[in-house]
Amino acid sequence: MTTDTAAPRFTADTPCIDWPRSVNNYGYGVVQHNGKRTTAHRAAYENVMGPIPKGLVVDHICRNRKCVNVSHLRLLTDKENVLIGDGPTAKNKRLSHCKNGHLLSGENIAVYVKGSTTHRHCIACGHERDERKNAKRRAKTALIAAGVKVRLE
Ligand SMILES: [Zn+2]
Ligand SMILES: [Zn+2]
Repeated sequence: MTTDTAAPRFTADTPCIDWPRSVNNYGYGVVQHNGKRTTAHRAAYENVMGPIPKGLVVDHICRNRKCVNVSHLRLLTDKENVLIGDGPTAKNKRLSHCKNGHLLSGENIAVYVKGSTTHRHCIACGHERDERKNAKRRAKTALIAAGVKVRLE
């Protein structure tokens, strides 16, 4: 494995450096940094790489939340982090059922890639949405046929 830039890169050659002090409920090391309570890996990143631009989060490439090895850290947008991380949204993305309880597998799943994100859609929900729309339209048509004035959207 070769590195061609000076920027820290994830490499298996450097082991994780576990934060030896206290960790928060999420398993991240906690530290006082510039008078503020922050996570140890953020502080470590800022110490080595400089301030973290607003809106960006420090992600563990090694997925070890206690790790403060800067070459195991990278900046991501909050959204990217949510998608690849272990947070509730990321877990949700990996759930086997959609929020309406349809099984998300096989023919019930529509996947499309937009930019760098992969979207998974429940086909059954789509059908139900269409069905509700159709039912509304049918109801409206019936009302119109019966001479009832309805507001057309
Ligand atoms: Zn690590
Ligand atoms: Zn569904």
